[in-house]
Amino acid sequence: MIPIALPLLAHEEAEAARAAVLSGWVSQGPQVTAFEQEFAALVGAPFACAVSNCTTALQLALAALDIGPGDEVITASHSFIATANSIRYQGATPVFVDIDPETYNIDSAQVMDAITHRTRAIIAVHQMGIPCDLAALTAIAKRRGIALIEDAACAAGSEISIDGEWERIGKPHGRIACFSFHPRKVITTGEGGMLTTADPELDRKFRLLRQHGMSIPDTVRHGSPQVLFEDYLVVGYNFRMTDIQAAVGRKQLERLPELVARRRAVALGYAELLGNLEGLRLPAEPAWARSNWQSYCVRLPDRLDQKGVMQTLLDQGIATRRGIMCAHREAPYAAESHRHQLRQSELAQDHSILLPIYAQMTEDDLRYVVNALTRVLYR
Ligand SMILES: *Cc1c(COP(=O)(O)O)cnc(C)c1O
Repeated sequence: MIPIALPLLAHEEAEAARAAVLSGWVSQGPQVTAFEQEFAALVGAPFACAVSNCTTALQLALAALDIGPGDEVITASHSFIATANSIRYQGATPVFVDIDPETYNIDSAQVMDAITHRTRAIIAVHQMGIPCDLAALTAIAKRRGIALIEDAACAAGSEISIDGEWERIGKPHGRIACFSFHPRKVITTGEGGMLTTADPELDRKFRLLRQHGMSIPDTVRHGSPQVLFEDYLVVGYNFRMTDIQAAVGRKQLERLPELVARRRAVALGYAELLGNLEGLRLPAEPAWARSNWQSYCVRLPDRLDQKGVMQTLLDQGIATRRGIMCAHREAPYAAESHRHQLRQSELAQDHSILLPIYAQMTEDDLRYVVNALTRVLYR
């Protein structure tokens, strides 16, 4: 069986988790602090704040920017539904715009057209690890005075060239970038998330909000020779990461460059072997982007039935997934009318499939998938 994805977790992660358990401190503590510092250093961000997952990271990003009822947030419908949900949690209104079918990323020209006097933020998704056009999006956000939040759930280890320099996603290029460490992403802590920013005031708000609005964290009280009393300054949340997760995350972070290099080799293999197949459209990596290839999405010829192709592959032991689903077609959003046409998003959902990609994938696995897909196309 060739799975769709496979996390690379080994003795190093197991030992780190064991050490955290035996340390006697398992909730948010020194491992979380170290993981934050190492993550910040790796992506080149001034501040990084760990949280329970990327969904809570996105919600905190909006909360820290005081986005709420009456505010509009422009984003892609063509994303994991958590992107849209994070906007709803805050009582704000998601305004969906279409994607560029080549990169599956939000179309910056359409973002421009969707801005109204109510627009407070853009959530730009680096979909499947392919960086968005941040040059265009940061320029729009700056000119219109709105916040750019990067949904970088899939993009740990992806890079973008800014003025000729390669920089990691998360620097951040917008106001805030949000990452996920779910096992379907490139590095994992089981569940986990991270917010990066260059703004110390936003970082302070993330830390307050993730921990019940508590004025003096438990770690500080625990280590103090004086009796300290905390206050609860705002209605906060419990969005903390545990030290067990962070200990695993630190080991995963050490592996990140290698994991990305291996995934890039698999993606290159797909591009070489699938590149000449008539009617199959491969994902496009812009010249200014280096994807971590969290997913490898191919667009099938319209004549083929997506589910049928996936079943034929599954019958041969190859797991695939359909293209990224559109939030505007799901129950929580389907009842609303949507202002902008979302045709490319719908076509991508209905005619694309995700192929297996993971660091441990062998040359044989790759050829097996390519041969099976080739037979389906020319059957
Ligand atoms: C996975 C994902 C999320 C949610 O991340 P969690 O850590 O599972 O909450 C959000 N946005 C996108 C684009 C994702 O792919």
